[in-house]
Amino acid sequence: MTADVAVRDLTADVTRLESSSSIDELVTVRQRATELRGLAVAAGDDEAVRRCDLIIADVLVREGHLGPGGHSARGALEWAEERGNLYVQARAHRVLSNFYRLLGDFSESLAHGVQAVSTLPAGAAPGVRARHLLMLGCSLDDNGSYDESDVRYREVLRISGDTGDDGLTLRALNNLAYNAYERGDEPTATALAARMREVAARGRGLAAKELDTIARVEMMAGRFAALEETLAGVLDGTVVDPDGDGLAECLLTLAEARRLNGHPEAAQIALDRTAELCERSGLARAAVQMRREQAALFAATDRFRDAYEELLRYQQSLSTLQNAERETRARAMQAVFEADEARQAIEQFRELANRDALTGLYNRRYVDERLPSLLDRDRPLSVAIVDLDHFKQINDSLSHAIGDAVLQQLGTLLEQAVTGAGAAARLGGEEFLLILPGYDAAGAARFCEDVARAIREFPWRPITGDHPVTASIGVAAAPAGPTTVPPLLAAADHNLYIAKRAGRDRVVA
Ligand code: GH3
Ligand code: MG
Ligand code: MG
Repeated sequence: MTADVAVRDLTADVTRLESSSSIDELVTVRQRATELRGLAVAAGDDEAVRRCDLIIADVLVREGHLGPGGHSARGALEWAEERGNLYVQARAHRVLSNFYRLLGDFSESLAHGVQAVSTLPAGAAPGVRARHLLMLGCSLDDNGSYDESDVRYREVLRISGDTGDDGLTLRALNNLAYNAYERGDEPTATALAARMREVAARGRGLAAKELDTIARVEMMAGRFAALEETLAGVLDGTVVDPDGDGLAECLLTLAEARRLNGHPEAAQIALDRTAELCERSGLARAAVQMRREQAALFAATDRFRDAYEELLRYQQSLSTLQNAERETRARAMQAVFEADEARQAIEQFRELANRDALTGLYNRRYVDERLPSLLDRDRPLSVAIVDLDHFKQINDSLSHAIGDAVLQQLGTLLEQAVTGAGAAARLGGEEFLLILPGYDAAGAARFCEDVARAIREFPWRPITGDHPVTASIGVAAAPAGPTTVPPLLAAADHNLYIAKRAGRDRVVA
């Protein structure tokens, strides 16, 4: 297999995984993404690495590990923005949209959801686009924009129909049906529920949350017998649900329907089953909702005192839950932003380590680290060593402090000269280096003539009095083809020596 084919296969595998991460296969998705990430690292494919990171971040967020998931997604977003990589940006926005949604910050979730769709390039895989639209639809729902979310869900349906993705079709239909149910639009909700059954019958089956939507639509239509049949599998344990949330919703719907249909004993059985499930699976939110349904059931059987007390317990447990959720949110945000601050501090230290204390220019260490990578490119590159003439005399006849002031002012002049053209560094003492990417020998010589003139003509009088300040400059251009830093600097140094020998205050290239 050639390297090209390997890269194409890797990218195709990543895309496939990006189009398939669904709630019930999280562990598999994470394992596969971790494997692919290893291959991407080995292939030096940074974009594929980031895409795998985002698949893993997505799983982390869905599993409730909001801090690490959100942090990783923010890192990927920054990486992509620096490089103008719109695809990775869109992917990061989608994960962040879900991150903020689960944190309960719906407006931030919507902002990222919109960008997840708007920055996704036109050529993105249909399955990926559909998942971004689905995410945006959910954010719009959370923000109460049901008509807008319906538009996105219908777009998802069109795509998933084309690609034959039944799992995605069911999710879109489920959300559309639930919206219709909440609007009280019974005919539309019933028609959508029927389509859900048709699609499910092709093999995918119905997940607990989807059964719950269908049951709610049936409750709305007063079709209680059908509802009992829909939820039969929930009671007899044939419906599986990884986290138990969907099952609890089904049981609560069953209890409500039985109460509304005048069967309080049967409703109590469903509620007792809910209590067991909440206990077993640690479902905090369902346990709270259950109390409200229990209060309604007491009231329906004229046990008003019990109903009142249960309602108090409901309110108490609701505020306890909300406090706990607030704390979880605060911790997740802290995990995301504390890590950011630590990274910024590290970047500041790194920046300081690369700077010369007297002039603020880059230092020798920066040159050693940065220059080799600039030599790798196809572009021409020149360097110039700038050395002050008779600087020792300034120190000796004026003072060391004035010498320092001259060095600082020279630093400013060099910094201004290279702005936009390259970089200036202080190699040590009164010796500076200009790095000039894109300049050949002739261009660099012209550039340095201007620098020499700027130094010569600068009004030094306030600093040095009658003492002139000039510099000699040795220029060297990197030869075409592979080369290293030492011979390049040696060539510049040699030309500097020639300039000094020829009388100083001049450029030799
Ligand atoms: P040439 O024209 O041949 O370059 O002569 P020069 O006097 O500039 O060169 P030389 O290398 O003999 O002297 C450099 C002087 O720079 C010696 C040293 O005291 C001074 N120097 C080095 N670092 C600093 C500094 O940080 N501050 C000050 N004030 N002087 C420094
Ligand atoms: Mg000197
Ligand atoms: Mg010197």
